[in-house]
Amino acid sequence: MIELHERVVEWGYEKEIIQKGNVLSQAGKVKEEAGEVIEAVDAWLKELLLPAENRDYKILAHVMEEIGDLRTTLILENKMVHVLCSMLEVDPDECLLLALHKIEKRTGKIVDGVFVKSEDL
Ligand SMILES: [Mg+2]
Repeated sequence: MIELHERVVEWGYEKEIIQKGNVLSQAGKVKEEAGEVIEAVDAWLKELLLPAENRDYKILAHVMEEIGDLRTTLILENKMVHVLCSMLEVDPDECLLLALHKIEKRTGKIVDGVFVKSEDL
């Protein structure tokens, strides 16, 4: 699995996505690919209503491809976050720990599939 991850990062450097992009531009790609996953899953859920022998399994293959696309964008986004941390000379794990300390005490509830903080309800 690590090898696949490294190949994605290598590809990102080859295409200059990592050098010329940034966390915000890459977040746009993550959002775009997440939308494509949702569309593909919706199509597959419709297929599941059909008897198994009538299902078009190319649609499931398409779902898998879209999940791969999304994972690619997430790997590159994570790499760009690390590049940003390096530029700022901050430790990415320390940033994560700060966020964790903040959210661990947070209360709230799920609204339309999204966690909403108590103070925003
Ligand atoms: Mg895609």
